[in-house]
Amino acid sequence: MKLHVQTLFVAIGLGIKRNWHIFLAIIAGILFGNFLHEKLILDYSDMSQLSSIVTGDMQIDNPTPFMKLAMLLNIIGQAFIRIIQMVVIPLVCSAIVVGISSIGDSKQIGKFGKKMIFYYGIITVLAVVIGAVLVLGFNPGVGVQDLINQNSAIEIQNQVNSVIEQQKGQIGNLFLGMIPQNPLESLAKGEMIPIIFFALIFSLALSKVGEINRPIVSFFESVFAATMKITDWIMIFAAPGIFALTAVSVSSFGLGIFSTISKFLAVVFLGFCIQFFVVYPLVLKLFSKVPVSTFFTAIIEALLVAFGTASSSATLPLTIACCEKRGISHKICSFVLPLGATLNMDGTALFQTVAVIFLTQAYGVTLEPIQIIQIMILAIIASSTCAGIPGAGLITIALVLNGLGLTPQQLTAGFAFLFTIDRVVDMIRTTVNVASDAVVAAVIADNENEIDYDLLNNTEQYKEII
Ligand code: ASP
Repeated sequence: MKLHVQTLFVAIGLGIKRNWHIFLAIIAGILFGNFLHEKLILDYSDMSQLSSIVTGDMQIDNPTPFMKLAMLLNIIGQAFIRIIQMVVIPLVCSAIVVGISSIGDSKQIGKFGKKMIFYYGIITVLAVVIGAVLVLGFNPGVGVQDLINQNSAIEIQNQVNSVIEQQKGQIGNLFLGMIPQNPLESLAKGEMIPIIFFALIFSLALSKVGEINRPIVSFFESVFAATMKITDWIMIFAAPGIFALTAVSVSSFGLGIFSTISKFLAVVFLGFCIQFFVVYPLVLKLFSKVPVSTFFTAIIEALLVAFGTASSSATLPLTIACCEKRGISHKICSFVLPLGATLNMDGTALFQTVAVIFLTQAYGVTLEPIQIIQIMILAIIASSTCAGIPGAGLITIALVLNGLGLTPQQLTAGFAFLFTIDRVVDMIRTTVNVASDAVVAAVIADNENEIDYDLLNNTEQYKEII
């Protein structure tokens, strides 16, 4: 009997597709994380310290066995994220060089670029409008003063102070910061925007020098192929990696958090759902003939990995793999997706708009219409300056708040509140960010006849990505 049950589990494990493995890993991670949370709060009553200990930011003597387990899971999860991030820079550079030099014609590159700005622009503007309408309509911040004040923490106050300091003058330096003085230094530091800036110009130049570009283009073709191969290998470990990441996140807040702050979360999630289930299908239908449900099936692995890792950059190799192996041309993927993963953060912009207006409601600040518009514009800027890594959207929110002239002292308690729930919101906004990158790539590919519909529509022919 025991053997039969084991055989059944093995059969189920081998029989189901890998994206189901990831899905099950997320569910198991949530359940196990909640179990762990309940055990951990018995040993460690201070919730604000819990996640710092788990992540190793705070050292303690004699961790309990459950804490050791949480720390181990954290190491497994971080190893998974690191190993994917390892391939991101070679992938972005090689994808851009190969993509642009294969387009060749600078007029065509300009045309793709304009379309990309247009579609990313519409999607992000809609995101902030949806966020503002929902938060102003449902007023989740009204009446939560007590909840917010209970959560203040000195540690977070210091963080907020330094963030606000860092952000000062950032808008002025934003454009200068995009231009690398030394591309190799930017490569070493992993600064995505300057790297992309240099890669775009370098590739454009390569496409203009004729046959002499062959050795270097072939070199980058090999780099691209090898990084995609590494991505395939890494994805063998996606299920345990994502299980560990999800369990660690849930272990620090527990599922009970949902009921405590349900109204704010409900508004944010509703906004994400409208963006995902209404805006994207509408954009696909209005501007292309890409079939909506088939398309989302095609990119499901990337969406699950985005949810698990909360990082658009770490998901980029998967986003490219899903789109390319399912019919969108290499030309479009290699141009649109790396830029999207770095600059297009509509889920983040939506979250920032809701969060900032929520905070003003919680503090009883009345906003003029012009200030609401300012928040929306700053959220678009702040989201696109934010790196595609976990938690970045909460850091750059300081830019939006700064624009309103709010002081760190005023923000401390509210920020503490947002920090507590950020991981879960981040997982969803990253999924939204990644989905919109793929949607825009699909629409442009359709407009430019760069999509193989036979392959996209025939799910049987899909090559395994993971
Ligand atoms: N984690 C998000 C991303 O990678 C950025 C954010 O924190 O909003 O897309």
